[in-house]
Amino acid sequence: MASKSQHDAPKVKSPNGKAGSQGQWGRAWEVDWFSLASIIFLLLFAPFIVYYFIMACDQYSCSLTAPALDIATGHASLADIWAKTPPVTAKAAQLYALWVSFQVLLYSWLPDFCHRFLPGYVGGVQEGAITPAGVVNKYEVNGLQAWLITHILWFVNAYLLSWFSPTIIFDNWIPLLWCANILGYAVSTFAMIKGYLFPTSAEDCKFTGNFFYNYMMGIEFNPRIGKWFDFKLFFNGRPGIVAWTLINLSFAAKQQELYGHVTNSMILVNVLQAIYVLDFFWNETWYLKTIDICHDHFGWYLGWGDCVWLPYLYTLQGLYLVYHPVQLSTPNALGILLLGLVGYYIFRMTNHQKDLFRRTDGRCLIWGKKPKAIECSYTSADGLKHHSKLLVSGFWGVARHFNYTGDLMGSLAYCLACGGGHLLPYFYIIYMTILLTHRCLRDEHRCANKYGRDWERYTAAVPYRLLPGIF
Ligand code: NDP
Repeated sequence: MASKSQHDAPKVKSPNGKAGSQGQWGRAWEVDWFSLASIIFLLLFAPFIVYYFIMACDQYSCSLTAPALDIATGHASLADIWAKTPPVTAKAAQLYALWVSFQVLLYSWLPDFCHRFLPGYVGGVQEGAITPAGVVNKYEVNGLQAWLITHILWFVNAYLLSWFSPTIIFDNWIPLLWCANILGYAVSTFAMIKGYLFPTSAEDCKFTGNFFYNYMMGIEFNPRIGKWFDFKLFFNGRPGIVAWTLINLSFAAKQQELYGHVTNSMILVNVLQAIYVLDFFWNETWYLKTIDICHDHFGWYLGWGDCVWLPYLYTLQGLYLVYHPVQLSTPNALGILLLGLVGYYIFRMTNHQKDLFRRTDGRCLIWGKKPKAIECSYTSADGLKHHSKLLVSGFWGVARHFNYTGDLMGSLAYCLACGGGHLLPYFYIIYMTILLTHRCLRDEHRCANKYGRDWERYTAAVPYRLLPGIF
C-alpha cells in the first residue's frame, strides 16, 4: 500500500513454521518484557477495575476510597462486598442475548438505506484500507441505520407501548456486567482459536510465540465469519457504542424516577456524548481508515474491551449522576457546554482537514487558503519509493495531534458536568489522557520510521504534539 510504511519488513514465522515476509504495521512482532508485564497486568486486573468502579457506585455511592478503607480497617471483608453484589440473572441473560442478537441482525442482514436519502452521508458497501498481505476488505457500513432503528424502538417500546421501563438498563446493570464479560471472554477466546485453526486471511495473522500477547493483542487482523461479518467493525461499533447512548438515557430515566426531575448535568452528559456517538456513526466509513481498523489485530484488547470496558467505563458520568444528582449553576452549565462543543469542533475539523487534504491531494482550501504541506517519501518492503504529504496548515499546523486535544477537551467537559464531589467520574479524562498520549507517541514512532528526515522537517515546522508551548 502506498501510504503505509513497510521498512525492514521482518520475516515472520507462522504456526506451521513457514517464514514469510510481511509489511511492518499492525501490532508488534516481538514481545519485550515491559509489554508482556503490562499485558499480564491488564488481563489479571482490568476486569477487577471495572468491577471495583461499578461496585463502588452500587455499594458506596461512587466513593472510590470507601471500599478500600472499609477493607483496610476491617469494617468489611472482600467476602462481604462480594455477597452484596447482584449475581447474573436469567432476565439479564435474556436481555443481553436479545440485545446482541438484534445488533448482529441489524449489522448482517439489513443493507444500509441511510445513504440513499441523507445528503453527505457515506454508507453502504465501502472498502477498507489495504492490509499488509494486500487484501482490501469490503464492509457494509450501516451503523447509523442500526443506531437510528435501535433508538426509535427504544422510545416506542419504553414510552409508547410501555413494554419495558426505560430504567431497565440501570436496574440490571451489574447482572448485565457478568453477561458482557462472558461475551467478551468468549469472543476473544474464539478469535484466538480461529486465528490458529481457520483464519480468514492467514497471511495477515501475526504470531509472537507468546500465548498471553497473542491472546491480548490478537492474531488475526480482520477475522470474519462469512463474507460480511467483520469482528472488528462489529465489536468496535456495536454493541458497545450503540448501547452508549441508550445506557445514558436509562440513567437519565432513573434520575427522573428517583428524584422527579432530570438534572442539567445529566442532560449535558447525554447531549455531549450523543454528539460524539452520532459523529462516530456518521463517519463510520472514515473510521475504516483509522488506527483501530488499519493497525490493530483482534484479540482480548478489542473483544473484551468493546464488550465490557467501553460500555461500563465510558458511561461512568451518567451512572454517577444517578447517585449524585448534580444541578449546575447556569454559568457553569453553559461553560461546560461550550468546552464540550469547542472540543468537539476541534476534534471533527482536525480530522476533516486531514481527510480533505489527503483525498484531494492538497487541491483544497483550509481556513480559506491553499494548504501548506511537507513533501515526504518512504520506501516500501518491495523497495519501491512512494510519495506522500504532511499537512502543516489549519489545525495540523497548531499541533501534530490537535484532533486528540479536541477529543480530550470534550472528555473533560463530560467529567466537569459531574461537579467536584468525587474522583470516580474523572476516570474518563484520566484514562483518555493516558490512552491518547500513548497513542500519539506510538503513532509518531511509526511515522518517524516511515518518513525519516521528512518527519524531522515536519516536527521542526510543528514542534508540539498536543498543546502548543507545553507538550
Ligand atoms: P489520526 O487520525 O491522527 O491519524 C494519524 C495518522 O495520520 C498518522 O499515522 C499519519 O499516517 C497521518 N498524519 C500524521 N500527521 C499528518 C499530517 N500533518 N498531515 C497528513 N497526515 C498526517 O489518528 P487516529 O486514527 O488515532 O485517530 C482518529 C480519531 O479517533 C482521533 O480524533 C482520536 O481522537 C479518535 N480516537 C478516539 C478514541 C476513543 O476511545 N474515544 C480512541 C482512539 C482514537 P500516514 O502514514 O498516512 O502518513
